[in-house]
Amino acid sequence: MTAIPFDNSYVRLPDRFFSRRAPTPVAAPRLIRLNRALAANLGMDPDWLAGLAGVEMLAGNRVPEGADPIATVYAGHQFGNFVPQLGDGRAVLIGEVIDRDGQRRDIQLKGAGPTSFSRRGDGRAALGPVLREYLVSEAMAALGIPTTRALAAVATGDQVLRETRLPGAVLARVAASHIRVGTFQYFAARGDAEAVRALADHALALALALARHYPEASSAEHPYRALLDGVVARQADLVAAWLLVGFVHGVMNTDNMSVAGETIDYGPCAFLDDYDPRTSFSSIDAHGRYAYGQQPGIALWNLTRLAETLLPLLAEDEAAAVEAAEAALAGFSPRFEAAYRGGLAHKLGLSADLDGAVALADDLLARMAGDQADFTLTFRRLCDAAERPEADAGVRDLFVDPTVYDGWAVRWRELLAEGGRNPTATAAAMRAVNPAFIPRNHHVEAMIAAAVERADFGPFEELLAVLSRPYDDQPAHARYAEAPEGGGADYRTFCGT
Ligand code: AMP
Ligand code: MG
Repeated sequence: MTAIPFDNSYVRLPDRFFSRRAPTPVAAPRLIRLNRALAANLGMDPDWLAGLAGVEMLAGNRVPEGADPIATVYAGHQFGNFVPQLGDGRAVLIGEVIDRDGQRRDIQLKGAGPTSFSRRGDGRAALGPVLREYLVSEAMAALGIPTTRALAAVATGDQVLRETRLPGAVLARVAASHIRVGTFQYFAARGDAEAVRALADHALALALALARHYPEASSAEHPYRALLDGVVARQADLVAAWLLVGFVHGVMNTDNMSVAGETIDYGPCAFLDDYDPRTSFSSIDAHGRYAYGQQPGIALWNLTRLAETLLPLLAEDEAAAVEAAEAALAGFSPRFEAAYRGGLAHKLGLSADLDGAVALADDLLARMAGDQADFTLTFRRLCDAAERPEADAGVRDLFVDPTVYDGWAVRWRELLAEGGRNPTATAAAMRAVNPAFIPRNHHVEAMIAAAVERADFGPFEELLAVLSRPYDDQPAHARYAEAPEGGGADYRTFCGT
């Protein structure tokens, strides 16, 4: 019996889409964490994966039967500058499986050693960034946000040289696909129209297999336009979902945007503490290109780059193709606004079509920004306030000037009354969309320090467990819900490559 039922499709694309490359073995693989539920959903035996052969596979020391390891090529706009060739420099796609829901999923080892796209990099990953990606991607999944998933983290027993020597690790990552906007750009920039078409057909085939989720692709008379429409819609929904939980991706280069609409590449990402739409945490994002509030605009900019690559497929004649692309891109803002505005209204226990709900939400955000209110705590405490007006005290405390909240709450209560739902039902609905727990930066850093400096994985396990139930009050773990001293605005993240 083969351990993993691989069914590889990307390798059937032309040779110039990838380079074949097995992972480079590591010194002493040791399993840090296996995502057993995900493994089972992928049709893999968790016990086998946790055993000797499984851990060797997850570390890249053994190529399992049916795997066909490759590094894929792509290009990308990095901070607005086009780089004609990037590619998987430290990740190897070992193969694809069909999961229990009938969905195709890529299994990729990140930190699996050099590939032909490594440039000057070592192809490896340090333990800290691997644990960060594992934790944050699983937290995103638990929040209900489309994302790549973490199947396993394995310590390599090797060291990687960054600013200092650090313990190495490999992350086994699972994605609906690893096709990026930059993958299309790579071929389009080389004038390889045939490859763009093959890639679009491949992406369409993936979408068609998912016709249940993306009916637009299956019924379409113009399949490439439908593909673009689908990517636009998924990206609009994704960025709205990010904003609604305070997520800052941090490096929305076109090579880090998946056409499957999943959050991908958790490098310098972080969650807001105090609400300020200008927040950018990444040390390399000096001008705030990828700040929290810039994310919808950047998503549309990236989608415009994707649309450009598809022009030759959209219509025979250029003017008609441009018109089709513009029409598809014009779908972004209404879709985003509906998802974001509707989501904000729900966070306040209101229906988006209630007159005044959207303006009320905007007013609250402006007040939060002016008074350094913690994003997650404000919305979570509003759930209590919806149930019991005495709980206003907890929300007021979050504003530098508590009366700024009082002025807003009057109108909120009027709208809640108009909505006509009973307070208990309102609070329950609000708790289902306002998480109590997000991966707070100060806890993520403490978790990483414990693992890297003391080989103590207790905090990682505990934080992971708490974040797997983000919408439940977990009184025993209340400290993980607390905001950092000082509001967190001075927090910095690093790409950690
Ligand atoms: P990122 O900013 O993480 O999206 O990475 C940008 C590019 O650099 C991608 O093509 C990566 O594969 C590559 N890269 C990042 N870190 C390394 C590394 N340690 N070794 C080789 N390539 C890397
Ligand atoms: Mg990347």
